[in-house]
Amino acid sequence: MNHIKVIDLEFLQQKEVIAAFLIETSAGPCLVETGPYSTIGQLKDGIQKHGYQPEDIQHVFLSHIHLDHAGAAWWFAKQGATIYVHPKGYKHMNDPSKLMDSATRIYGSMMDTLWGRMEAIPSEQLRSMEDEETITVGDTQFEAWYTPGHAVHHIAWKLGKTLFSGDVGGVKINGGPVVPPCPPPDINVEDWKASISKILQLDLDEMYLTHYGKVDSVASHLEDLSNRLDSWANWIHPHFKNDTPQQNIIMPFQEMVQAELIENGVTDPIHLGQYEAANPSSMSVAGLMRYWEKRNS
Ligand SMILES: [Zn+2]
Repeated sequence: MNHIKVIDLEFLQQKEVIAAFLIETSAGPCLVETGPYSTIGQLKDGIQKHGYQPEDIQHVFLSHIHLDHAGAAWWFAKQGATIYVHPKGYKHMNDPSKLMDSATRIYGSMMDTLWGRMEAIPSEQLRSMEDEETITVGDTQFEAWYTPGHAVHHIAWKLGKTLFSGDVGGVKINGGPVVPPCPPPDINVEDWKASISKILQLDLDEMYLTHYGKVDSVASHLEDLSNRLDSWANWIHPHFKNDTPQQNIIMPFQEMVQAELIENGVTDPIHLGQYEAANPSSMSVAGLMRYWEKRNS
């Protein structure tokens, strides 16, 4: 489909780490994902480059409420846009204080550099989307597919035979392998694999990953993702059993991930850096440890 434009948000001055997607409809342009507020300048430039004004965006579809996907949605709401989100993400968009507090506990003084601020979106401009609910904008239908596993408030957006897979479709950058982004607090391997099975039944031609871009061979991509999710979770499991402090796991985990990337052709340090920026090892260690804790409690 040629009415999809991928906008590179150049997160932390790196190419192909975070995307937003401009969808041209007969009723004007829409966005799937906004990226963080820290990259709003690049997003506005990207929208203009495709011949629109940022204020033209009246519909914003979020895969989930993590800051690298939803952090700039409030700015579009201020220009009059409606923001579509899963019911479990709704309250955090309506009042982002808890979301920002927990992010600040993790990122501290890096908050502004990484994500920027977030303002509340009024209820009149927020729309909760249930599984398989659809919204029609002009000639284009957006279908919400509830796909938990990465986050409990995750939606993959389907347009015809194209799926915008948020993070449930994994991270794959510039021809490298697909890896599962596993930040806390919601990682659930069983739910994620159930979501993958659900996506496999959708008869898709292509997927667009927020990190980063188009995937044509959907089935083999998702099979790789599912296998790697298991292998990462199983790598963490003995450390959970042995109560290893997280700070002791991060380095060996990162080495395991890098070795896997290198084995799959990601040898350029810039390319390795893109993977780490999109999917930090420290986050995946924390998220997978939390998964095992919850499963064993
Ligand atoms: Zn993400």
